[in-house]
Amino acid sequence: MAELLHFPVATPPAPGAVIAIAPGVRWLRMPLPFALDHINLWLLDDGPGWTAVDCGIAGRTTRELWQRIFADHLEGRPIVRVLVTHYHPDHIGLAGWLAERFEAPLWITEKEWLHARVMTGDGTADFAAAARGFARRAGLAAEDSALFAERHSGYRLGVPSVPPAFIRLADGMNVEIGSRSWRVIVGEGHAPELACLYCAESGLLIAGDQILPRISPNISVPPHQPDADPLALYLRSLARLRRELPADTLVLPSHNLPFRGVHHRIDELAAHHAERCAETVIACARPTSAADLLPVLFRRRLDRHQTAFALGEAVAHLHYLAGEGEIARVIGTDGIARFLRKAA
Ligand SMILES: [Zn+2]
Repeated sequence: MAELLHFPVATPPAPGAVIAIAPGVRWLRMPLPFALDHINLWLLDDGPGWTAVDCGIAGRTTRELWQRIFADHLEGRPIVRVLVTHYHPDHIGLAGWLAERFEAPLWITEKEWLHARVMTGDGTADFAAAARGFARRAGLAAEDSALFAERHSGYRLGVPSVPPAFIRLADGMNVEIGSRSWRVIVGEGHAPELACLYCAESGLLIAGDQILPRISPNISVPPHQPDADPLALYLRSLARLRRELPADTLVLPSHNLPFRGVHHRIDELAAHHAERCAETVIACARPTSAADLLPVLFRRRLDRHQTAFALGEAVAHLHYLAGEGEIARVIGTDGIARFLRKAA
């Protein structure tokens, strides 16, 4: 059904280059060392300088590409504001470096800043133990649970520093950037308080990871909040975005290509989760853990990095259905949480 999405620019910017995707809005890309191998960043004309939206993951390659951008694509003007959509390393990674280099303030929501500060500070054993316990309760074997915990301790590699002070973005607030006004629309479910930016005058939405055109944003229960129901939050956010955004909005997503067709894409994402939920309910005809659910929800072979993401997603679908009253959780004598369909 992807043909109902329209991609105005077919080829993304080359490394170190920019594309003017709208007046005063430049699109650049940074590489990522994952299967998802890139992130889109945005430079907004901000009068005497530029607002950078998101930063790329820390590392020599990203810094070198930024240096080329500074030299070739800022017209000699500085970055005057670093705006970050959410705390994930590909978005906030180099925020500390950029903010320091240009003496520019960080603009971010409070929950995202707090998360980033906690995650960069917390490499302690009790956090790893919580992640191991989470994976064990989800039904992973001991060895895989240890690997899961290890993956959840890598945050600081991608985010060496987070600015110690910030200017708070909040839902509904208008941010004047250059000659444009952008309204903050907070999205939930993928991250705790993700800032999307909407410019009504230009019909543009900077979406972060809240809406992506080709992949479904990761909606995971995090080990430090093991009873969370992020899928309920995400679906509620999607419904709100569908109500508030005009159909012809040009969406600037953090991954893949800018697109039009936001209502259609939101419907696809909601349908995707409805399908996953239907499969989950069927599987729960007998007691089913999140680990049991992985081959049902993800029919391809998963590497260990992907398994960690997938496990959090499986738990998210189980918790959502439990919240909806369709299935019930039973903790076994082995400590594993299994879910069983309620009698009709
Ligand atoms: Zn993200």
